Amino acid sequence: MLESPVTVRTTCAYCGVGCGVLATREESGAVRIKGDPLHPANFGRLCSKGSALGETLDLEGRLLEPQIGGQPASWDTALDLVASRFTETISEHGPDSVAFYVSGQLLTEDYYVANKLMKGFIGSANIDTNSRLCMSSSVAGHRRAFGSDTVPGTYEDLDLADLIVLTGSNLAWCHPVLYQRIAAAKVRRPEMRVVLIDPRRTVTADIADMHLKIKPDGDTALFVGLLGFLAAQGAVERHYVERYTSGFEAALAIANSHDLRSIAARTGISPEELRAFFELFTRTERSVTVYSQGVNQSASGTDKVNAIINCHLATGRIGRPGMGPFSITGQPNAMGGREVGGLANMLAGHMHLENAGHRQLVQAFWDAPTIASKPGLKAVDLFDAARAGKIKALWIMATNPVDSMPEADLVIEALETCPFVVVSDINAMTDTTCYADVLLPAAGWGEKDGTVTNSERCISRQRAFLPLPGEAKPDWWIVTQVAQRMGFAPGFPYESAAQIFAEHAALSGHGNHGTRDFDISAHSAIVDTDYDALSPFQWPQGRDEPATEKRFFGQGEFYTDDRRARFVAVRPANEEAIDPRFAFTLNTGRVRDHWHTMTRTGKSARLSAHFAEPFAEINPLDAAEQGIADASLVKLGNDHGKIVVRALLTDRQERGNIFVPMHWNGQFAGNARVDRLVTANVDPVSGQPALKMARVAVKPFAAR
Ligand code: SF4
Repeated sequence: MLESPVTVRTTCAYCGVGCGVLATREESGAVRIKGDPLHPANFGRLCSKGSALGETLDLEGRLLEPQIGGQPASWDTALDLVASRFTETISEHGPDSVAFYVSGQLLTEDYYVANKLMKGFIGSANIDTNSRLCMSSSVAGHRRAFGSDTVPGTYEDLDLADLIVLTGSNLAWCHPVLYQRIAAAKVRRPEMRVVLIDPRRTVTADIADMHLKIKPDGDTALFVGLLGFLAAQGAVERHYVERYTSGFEAALAIANSHDLRSIAARTGISPEELRAFFELFTRTERSVTVYSQGVNQSASGTDKVNAIINCHLATGRIGRPGMGPFSITGQPNAMGGREVGGLANMLAGHMHLENAGHRQLVQAFWDAPTIASKPGLKAVDLFDAARAGKIKALWIMATNPVDSMPEADLVIEALETCPFVVVSDINAMTDTTCYADVLLPAAGWGEKDGTVTNSERCISRQRAFLPLPGEAKPDWWIVTQVAQRMGFAPGFPYESAAQIFAEHAALSGHGNHGTRDFDISAHSAIVDTDYDALSPFQWPQGRDEPATEKRFFGQGEFYTDDRRARFVAVRPANEEAIDPRFAFTLNTGRVRDHWHTMTRTGKSARLSAHFAEPFAEINPLDAAEQGIADASLVKLGNDHGKIVVRALLTDRQERGNIFVPMHWNGQFAGNARVDRLVTANVDPVSGQPALKMARVAVKPFAAR
C-alpha cells in the first residue's frame, strides 16, 4: 500500500485548451482525476479524454530501458552512442546533415533544450515539430499580419462575444471544454449567436444558430467576400484602419473583384445564406472568429488565416473584450514550442531567425559557439531529405510520424534510408519506434515536471505525482546528457526543469529584441520551490509586473517595422480540376474520445467504446450509388495507397465528401492508416501539410 493520497495540481496531457487537473494517487495505486476549479482554462470542467487520464497510466507497452538495435543497453552506452554518432556525422557531413523531429507533446523545458542544442551548438535549424502539422499556418498568418506570432485574445472573449464564428473547428469533439464554455455562455446570454462553417454537420452544429456547409477550402473566398461586404455596408472602422494598419486598399481591391454570386460559387454557400452571415457579422461588434485545423491544414492555410484576420482588422474588432480572431491550438504544448522557437524557421523567445540582431542576441545569451543562420527543413521537407539520403542522423522525440505525416509510406522509406535513427518515447512499440537504431525511454504524463502553454498564452505546470517507471527519464534530461557528451557541457548544466524554465524566462525579457509580445521574465530568478508552487499565468509578465490577463492590439502597437498591422491581399484559391478516378474529397480529423495515434487513449476501454474501430462517414446517397451498405467494409484509395474501413452512412456528411478519423494506426488497425492517402501537399508559406484534403475513390471491399 502507498502512503496517504496526495492531490497534485497539474495540466491535462491532451489538447491545447490546457485544462487544469487535480490528480490523486490513491492508496491502491489508482489515479483519481478531477477538473481543477481554480484553473482559468476550465474552472473545474474536463472532457471525456481528460477525465479518463487515470485509465491510461498503466505500464503495459511502456519503453522502460534504453535499447540499441532492439537489445537492452545501459543509459551510458546509449547516450554515448547517440552523442558520438551525431558528432561524427556533423564532422563528416556538416551540421545540416542531422535533424531533430520533436513534438507538441514535449514540455516547454524539453523543447527549449532540444532547440538550444540544434540551433546554438550544432549550428543548424533542422529542428521541426509535429506542431507543423497542426498550427503552423496560424503562426505564419500571425507573423504576416502582426509582425509576430501573437494570439490577440483570451478565453474570456468566448464568454463575452455576441457572435462566435467557428470555422474549420469541430470544437465539441476537439476542444470540448471550450465548446462547453461557449454552450454555457449561450445559456446565460441567449442573445449570443454561433455560426458554424464546416462541410460536415458535426456535433458542434448543435449549438449553432447558422451552419454554412462550405466547400472544402472555400474559407479564403468566404472571408474575402465578407471583407467586400463590410466595405460596401460602410462597416469598416476607418479610424482603426488608417491609424493602425497598412495594405487595406490592396486587400479590398481583391475583395471588390468578387460579387456575392462568385463567392457563392467558390464556397458552395447560397447567396441568401452568405448575405445572412455577412449581415450578422456586420452588425455584431463583439465578434470572435475561432479557427483550427480545418483552416490550418490546407495548401492555402496561411491565406485563410489572413483572410479572417483582415476582417477583424477592417472592423477594429481585435484585442478588445469579446472580439478577435482566435486560433485554437491542437496539442497541449504547441504554444510552448512556439515560445522556445521549436520550429525550423523560428528562434527562441519568439525572436526571428531571419533577424541578424535576434540571432546575435540569442547566441550571446546562450554563449553558444554558433547560431543557425538560415531556416531549417520543415516537417515534410525533413523526411523528404532523409529519404534522399541527405539527413544522416535523425532524432525523433515524443511523436509517431509514421502514423501522423502525410504519405506515411514515404516516411517509412525515409526512416529505412537514414543511417542513424534515434527515437525517445514512452512507448516501446509504435509504428515509428520499430525503425529506430536507438530507443530512449522517456518519462510520461504524471512522471515529470515542466510547463505547457495553452491557446490563450496561459503557462501552467505539469507536475509529477508518479515515480519514474523502469529507467525512464525526462526528455530535458536525455537531451542535456547527449549535449554534454557532444562536448557542450557548459551550455547544458541543467539539473532540474526549474533551472531551464528560469533561463527561458530570462531570455524572453533579455535585451531589447523589439517586442514585448513574449515576456515571462518575472520568473527569470525562479527557484525550485517557487517553480513547484507556480500558478497558471498568462504572458507577457515582465519583471516586477503582476500576472494579468492581457489582450493585444486593441490600440495598435503591432510588431511590424512601422508598428502597423498588415492586411494581406489574399486571393481565393482556384479550384483544382478533379481527376474522375478519384471523385470524393477526403477529410481527416479527430473523434471525441481518442487522441492522436491512440498510444494513450487506446488503453482506456471507456474511451474506446465511443468508436470501437475506424470508419468512413459517407452520405447515404453516395453510398447507394457505389453499392455500399451501412456498416459494411469499404476500400478507399488513390495513387498513394489504400485503406479498408467500415462505412458509416450519415446525412451529416455532404455528398462528394468522406470523413475518416486519423487515430487508428498499425498497433490498432494498420490497414486503416488514413495518412497513407494524404498527399504531402503543403502550404507554400507555412509548410503545413493539407491533411484535410485528399482525393479518393471509394468502393465496397471484397475480401478475396
Ligand atoms: Fe484535456 Fe482538452 Fe479535454 Fe481539457 S478539453 S480535458 S485539455 S483534452
